[in-house]
Amino acid sequence: MEKVKVLIIGSGPAGFTAAVYAARAGLKPVLYQGGQPGGQLTITTDVENYPGYPEGVQGSQMMVDFQKQAERFGTEIRLGMVTSVDFSGWPHKVTIDQKDEIEAEAVIISTGASAKWLGLESEQRLNGMGVSACAVCDGFFFRGQDVVIVGAGDTAAEEASYLSKIVNKVYMLVRRDEMRASTIMQQRVKNAPNIEILFNTSTDEVLGGESVEGVRLVNNVTGEKKELKVQGFFVAIGHQPNTEIFKDWLDMDETGYINAVPGTSKTNIPGVFATGDAQDKVYRQAVIAAGSGCMGALDAEKFIAEKEVEMAEREVM
Ligand code: NDP
Repeated sequence: MEKVKVLIIGSGPAGFTAAVYAARAGLKPVLYQGGQPGGQLTITTDVENYPGYPEGVQGSQMMVDFQKQAERFGTEIRLGMVTSVDFSGWPHKVTIDQKDEIEAEAVIISTGASAKWLGLESEQRLNGMGVSACAVCDGFFFRGQDVVIVGAGDTAAEEASYLSKIVNKVYMLVRRDEMRASTIMQQRVKNAPNIEILFNTSTDEVLGGESVEGVRLVNNVTGEKKELKVQGFFVAIGHQPNTEIFKDWLDMDETGYINAVPGTSKTNIPGVFATGDAQDKVYRQAVIAAGSGCMGALDAEKFIAEKEVEMAEREVM
């Protein structure tokens, strides 16, 4: 069985930053990229709030830069999904693509989060053809057109405001009679002249053959249905942390975010560290994820050093 010192799962800002630090510490990290190499930033456009890029940078380019920096210090970056883990003993066991097992002294989890979907067949079928979970990535394609955005949290409010500056009209579908978003974000949405908020409203079906042509709505109080003609359908109903494979081993909150010991990346299993959006449901920013990846590497380095001392002492006895 292959043995490595540090195994990093995930290739977003957290994973690559962990890799830079672990590689520079001589730990020869191996990083598995997962199903979306580069992570969520590869599906966004301009990133203007990452320090160090005064002119902004394309999200995908930024992740190429992160990767190059990790490789420069000797990180081994591999294609592949970690499909299961076994944290019952030590070293930790990690299975890749359901077949290859690797033993790792420390595991750094940087698996991030993914957008949630409503789960409608029409939403799936028209994904990328007018259906999107990222207004910032795709809003541009609907310039001057009419769109729907589903959701009532801060993300939906922020994305509705963003879209209102590009498109002709935004219909915001709120399933209850109130929004969850912070007061200031609600005010922003309510003050925008071209955003219409439809309370107590859910999506019955996204309409269209080759592209989105409309949406059939249902009023959650009266049950009444009606159709709107729109060209874009945005979903902003939150994110799901990519932590399913760890649920039998790690302490998590009720929504699946890994509980790290505050101020550290440590989980309930010694030698397993959680970084980035997989353990952060509050900030969800690339710069925070990068910082947390650094914590993961430093915590892993310390853990390995302590293990080495422990094993050396055991040999002497
Ligand atoms: P949230 O979980 O806060 O909100 C999700 C929203 O989607 C809720 O309004 C929820 O409705 C709605 N929703 C969920 N499922 C469905 C469904 N099936 N159909 C219709 N509506 C649905 O997620 P966000 O991504 O908005 O925010 C996550 C965290 O990030 C929050 O803590 C937020 O404050 C923070 N954030 C902060 C920002 C900022 O400060 N600038 C920007 C973006 C996010 P309901 O209310 O009925 O449950």
